[in-house]
Amino acid sequence: MSAVVMDGRELARAVRADLKERVARLREDGIKPRLEAVVAAQDPASLAYVAMKQQWAKWVGVESGVFMVEPHVTTDQIINHVYGLNANPRVHGVLIQHPMPKHIDEPRVLESLGPDKDADGITTASLGRLLAGLPGFRCATPLGITKLLDAYSIDCTGKNAVVIGRSVILGKPMALMLLERNATVTVAHSKTRDLPDLCRTADILVAAVGRAELVRGDWIKPGAVVIDAGYNKVEGRDTDVGDCHYEECATVASHITPVPGGVGPMTVASLLANTVAAAEKKG
Ligand code: NAP
Repeated sequence: MSAVVMDGRELARAVRADLKERVARLREDGIKPRLEAVVAAQDPASLAYVAMKQQWAKWVGVESGVFMVEPHVTTDQIINHVYGLNANPRVHGVLIQHPMPKHIDEPRVLESLGPDKDADGITTASLGRLLAGLPGFRCATPLGITKLLDAYSIDCTGKNAVVIGRSVILGKPMALMLLERNATVTVAHSKTRDLPDLCRTADILVAAVGRAELVRGDWIKPGAVVIDAGYNKVEGRDTDVGDCHYEECATVASHITPVPGGVGPMTVASLLANTVAAAEKKG
C-alpha cells in the first residue's frame, strides 16, 4: 500500500485564494486587515518564520508590521506595545512568535494580548475557550491539521487518535480538537511507556514531538492516518525532517502528511485565516 499524500501546500494555496477574495471584499468596505508580530530580533529561525508569515500576509492583501525584541527590550516594554496593539482598531491579529528571548517573561507577554486579536490562538483565554467548547481563535497548527483532515474527508468519529506530544501550542490543543471531533484520544509524551505499542492502536496518529524520524513504519496500524507536525533540522539533510520516518510510514498508512509541505503551510494559512476572520468580525 502507498498512502495518499495529504498535500498541505495545495490546500494552503486554496485557502490563500479564498482569503484574498475575502480581504478584497473587506477593503471595498474600507477595512484593511492587519497582522502585527512580536519577534526576538536575535533568533534567525523566528525571524525566518515571521518573514514567511508576512509574505503570506502580502499575498492575501493583509497589512503587517513587526516589533523587534532587541536584547535591551524589557518584558514591560513589550507588554506596553501589546496593550497598544490591543487598543488599536486598525490591528486585527497579533502574533507573538515563540520563543521570546530568555530574559523575557513570555507567559506574561502572552497574557497581555487580548483574546480577540490572538490570531495564533495560544493565550490561556483562547485555550480556555477551546477547552470549554466556546467560540474563539483556535491554535494555528492544530487548526491547520483539522483543515487537512476535513479536506481529505477523514471522519474522526469513534476513531482512536494518539497524539504524541503535550505542548501547549500543539499537542494539548490538538488532543482537544480531535476530542471535539468525537475521536477517542490518548496523549503520549516522553514518559509514556511502550510508545510503539500505543501508536499501533491509533487510527489517527499525530506526531508533535520534535525528534527526527522517531515514529517508524512498524509503529503504524495498517490504514491509519499519519499526521506529522515535526520540523527537525538534521545535519546533512537539505530540508527539514519530520517526526515520522516518511518512507516506512507511507507504505503502511492510508494517508500521510509530508515534511515539508504538509502541516507547515496549513499553520501559516490558519494564522492568516484567523486574522481575516477577526477583521470580518470587527467590520
Ligand atoms: P515541545 O514543546 O518540545 O514538545 C514536545 C513534546 O514531545 C513534549 O510533550 C515531550 O514530552 C514530547 N516528547 C519528546 N520526546 C519524546 C519521546 N522520545 N517520546 C514521546 N514524546 C516525546 O515541541 P512543540 O513545540 O510541540 O513542537 C513539536 C514539533 O512540532 C517540533 O518538531 C516543532 O518544530 C514542530 N512544530 C511544527 C509546527 C508547524 O507549523 N508545522 C508548529 C509548531 C511546532 P514531555 O512533555 O514529557 O517533555
